[in-house]
Amino acid sequence: MPLKTKKELNNEILETTIKIKENYPELSKFEDEMTITIPSEVKPEITASDLQEYNDALQAMATGYAKGSTNHIVIIGAGFAGLKLARSLNNHPNYTITLIDKNNYHQFQPLFYQVAMANLDASNISFPLRNIFEKSKNVRIRVADVTNINTKKNEVETLSGNINYDYLVIATGAKTNYFGNTVLAQKVFSMKSTFEALQIRNTLLQHFEDAVTANHAKTKILLSVVIVGGGPTGVELSGALAEMKNDSLPFEYPELNFAEMKIYLLEGTGKLLSAMSATSSHKAKEYLQKLGVTVMLNTFVKEYDGKQVLLQEATVIESTCGIWAAGGKGNIPNGFSPNYISNSNQIKTDIFHRVINTENIFALGDVAIIESELHPNGFPQLASVAIDQSKNLAKNFLRLALNKTILPFNYINKGNMATIGRNKAVVDLAKPKLSFHGFFAWLIWMTLHLFLLISFKNRLIVFINWIYKYFTHRQLLALLYPTLTSKSKL
Ligand SMILES: Cc1cc2nc3c(=O)[nH]c(=O)nc-3n(C[C@H](O)[C@H](O)[C@H](O)COP(=O)(O)OP(=O)(O)OC[C@H]3O[C@@H](n4cnc5c(N)ncnc54)[C@H](O)[C@@H]3O)c2cc1C
Repeated sequence: MPLKTKKELNNEILETTIKIKENYPELSKFEDEMTITIPSEVKPEITASDLQEYNDALQAMATGYAKGSTNHIVIIGAGFAGLKLARSLNNHPNYTITLIDKNNYHQFQPLFYQVAMANLDASNISFPLRNIFEKSKNVRIRVADVTNINTKKNEVETLSGNINYDYLVIATGAKTNYFGNTVLAQKVFSMKSTFEALQIRNTLLQHFEDAVTANHAKTKILLSVVIVGGGPTGVELSGALAEMKNDSLPFEYPELNFAEMKIYLLEGTGKLLSAMSATSSHKAKEYLQKLGVTVMLNTFVKEYDGKQVLLQEATVIESTCGIWAAGGKGNIPNGFSPNYISNSNQIKTDIFHRVINTENIFALGDVAIIESELHPNGFPQLASVAIDQSKNLAKNFLRLALNKTILPFNYINKGNMATIGRNKAVVDLAKPKLSFHGFFAWLIWMTLHLFLLISFKNRLIVFINWIYKYFTHRQLLALLYPTLTSKSKL
């Protein structure tokens, strides 16, 4: 593809704008709105296909204003996928958008573990939806829990009323998979929301406080934490907890002997970070063990009653804090035929994100699966995949407005990364195929996560927190809120 400079691009956009104005003189009253801003973060040179995209967007805007009619898109879920889609179609004259979420804020899941470990405040990684769209002409927010979808009536049912749609986009993410163990589900903590991350933080802090006055046997149980699942969440959580144990807790609780604190990371397979290379997996394990985490591979949890973790080989670990990071499954609203739901409890879609056997319903991100010969298990459940899918769907909504054919999703694997602690991270790049670890990997991990956060203010605050923590080895946010009660107590 030939590259164009920003100046050339600006000139071409200007020319297109002039042509549109000539073809649609009645649009002069919308002149102020008929501008396409090139985002400041775009590369200084731009490809012909980028230019085509900008021109398409401009044309779609013009035809939208000319037609004066709009279609109503209802998006369920303001996570990575839903929010990106709403932002991409913001102020588009062809569409009015209702963005529904059960929370009134967007939450940045990759940093939940830092909220749980009192390194960040919940508000640093959450962003109020109404604030994001306060200037929007076509995006409206509805804070509601979707209870059912009536595909025959094109209606979304919520506890606060029903909403009709022309197009529906389901982006409800994933929920914790307890593999049918209901007793365990009631006792373990999971970390799929900001609230749950805060629950973990409060429980840990409460257990430390309780340990101060407990007898020795009780103290050992209160200071024992079992994390189940050796994926990125389990690895990041156990690493951060181990740093807390080594760096700050002995100063804050001089009455307690933290050499007795035990952090277990249990993983059912023979490898941590199963989606990553053997080198990265091995390095992560080494890092964790150096920090003092007991890593147990090929270990299955059978039961947990809030006090004892029973392993498959009948071993028992006593702990009042069990954290479940061992799996997720699609969080599908009611109303879909089981025929279109995969074994992983995800909605099956085609390569255009359209739910199988429907015309006007799409599904994106963790809740959706595109099964193909090349990717029989779909694409990884990652923020980057959810964002790329919503970019493709946004492009297709623009193309639909122009009566153009829609484009298939093209998955580009950029790689994978996880952090274990200060100066310790592992990165697998897809192209060039390369694995590395250590300080440089950690810097990349931090920079990427910082830039993925919404709002400059959040980025700045998180950055300051990280710098402070890096040099002082302390967290400032260990506030105990008794209302966030623990699930289990001695
Ligand atoms: C602890 C943790 C750490 C992670 N770390 C990383 C990482 O480092 N890098 C990475 O790429 N990915 C990471 N992920 C995965 C990543 O967060 C997901 O892939 C991504 O969030 C998927 O985006 P989504 O839009 O599909 O769903 P989500 O971001 O989960 O958004 C779903 C939204 O739907 C809303 N919702 C759900 N049900 C309803 C309902 N019935 N009614 C109304 N609203 C509803 C929810 O409130 C939520 O806002 C992590 C996930 C977790 C849990």
